[in-house]
Amino acid sequence: MFLECIECKAEYPDTEIIYTCKRCGGLLDVIYDYSKIDLSVQKLKQPPSVWKYASLLPIKREPVSIKEGGTPLYRCDRLAKQIGIHELYVKHEGLNPTGSFKDRGMTVGVSKALELGMKTVACASTGNTSASLAIYAAKAGISAVVLLPEGKVAMGKVAQALMHGAKVLAIRGNFDDAFRLVRELCDREEFYLLNSINPFRLEGQKTIGFEIIDQLGWESPDRIVLPVGNAGNISAIYKGFSEFKRFAIIEEIPKMTGIQAEGACPIVNAFRRGAREIIPEKNPETIASAIRIGDPVNAPKALHAIYDSEGIAEKVSDDEIIDAQKSLARLEGIGVEPASAASIAGLQKLREQGVIEQDERVVCVTTGHLLKDPEEVISVCGAPIEVEADIEAIKRVLSKSISK
Ligand SMILES: *Cc1c(COP(=O)(O)O)cnc(C)c1O
Ligand SMILES: [Zn+2]
Repeated sequence: MFLECIECKAEYPDTEIIYTCKRCGGLLDVIYDYSKIDLSVQKLKQPPSVWKYASLLPIKREPVSIKEGGTPLYRCDRLAKQIGIHELYVKHEGLNPTGSFKDRGMTVGVSKALELGMKTVACASTGNTSASLAIYAAKAGISAVVLLPEGKVAMGKVAQALMHGAKVLAIRGNFDDAFRLVRELCDREEFYLLNSINPFRLEGQKTIGFEIIDQLGWESPDRIVLPVGNAGNISAIYKGFSEFKRFAIIEEIPKMTGIQAEGACPIVNAFRRGAREIIPEKNPETIASAIRIGDPVNAPKALHAIYDSEGIAEKVSDDEIIDAQKSLARLEGIGVEPASAASIAGLQKLREQGVIEQDERVVCVTTGHLLKDPEEVISVCGAPIEVEADIEAIKRVLSKSISK
């Protein structure tokens, strides 16, 4: 196993602490000797989990694990009917240990930090990365430092980072500022950087792709729809599918369909230009705080994934996100944070435009749990109705709001 630059193909040993190519600054990818890996459907009999796929993960030691992955894949017929599609599934990543898919990356990333002998791990975060980093660092017995954009992170996520013992700093700036600073901090202090620029982290996240195929009975869906922020996850899932194709477990890679918010959509704009590079946005804004990112670091990998799989990138408004969040919650009983609902909103929009066909088999990835962002819920649903502790008063209120 080694690291390879996706641009100039320079190679680096997997024991080197390096995040981008020293020659050209390009992103790195983990390359395996696939001829030495024996993988077949017959060998994959255990229930889904990240470490079920250990033969395709870059860790040699006992992993730091709190049982991540193995999230449910729900068939969603009521929502499918509303959207006008025959076969719709939701892969609910909000049911990971800390409530987001970031756990898949962190179980691998923090295990790698131990392999490399690192004593402190660090990240910049819109919230979920910090929650996940904090819990895996705690489990591993090492220190965690997180830089958050001040006042821009959902309460549930801050609570997790604090309780699990990370050193939490709120930066007066946005996510992109925090990311620039944490990179410098890691270089100077020899902290191990666990943002999605770290190629080992993405290896853990590619297991979302493995699990979708596994849970569909070793069949491939036509399309995957997911929210895109720093663009690591779409790149990782694409890699998972590519590996399964290499092992002939699937024939085709599903169309990778990335959804961004209107106020933070540099990848959508690049896609519309047919470009492979983005133009960063200075002041990204959206209710979906997890994807409020103007300069996505993994954009080259993500755009490659979209073009190569004949996918698409689309943007949705905050109102469309909120409507989708409510539909998913009320038709299917799946509670997600706003960023996750962008996938449903994007599917709806692309279906209305006729870009996605009615007979496609579609999987939406919902990335984080509803309870991550309770303040958003109160602001879009309203606070509970206050009423006297009296049966007549209760009946009066209900007669106004419930139809019999
Ligand atoms: C991190 C995150 C995203 C964005 O994932 P990227 O890999 O940065 O594109 C989307 N939704 C949620 C809930 C997240 O935590
Ligand atoms: Zn290079």
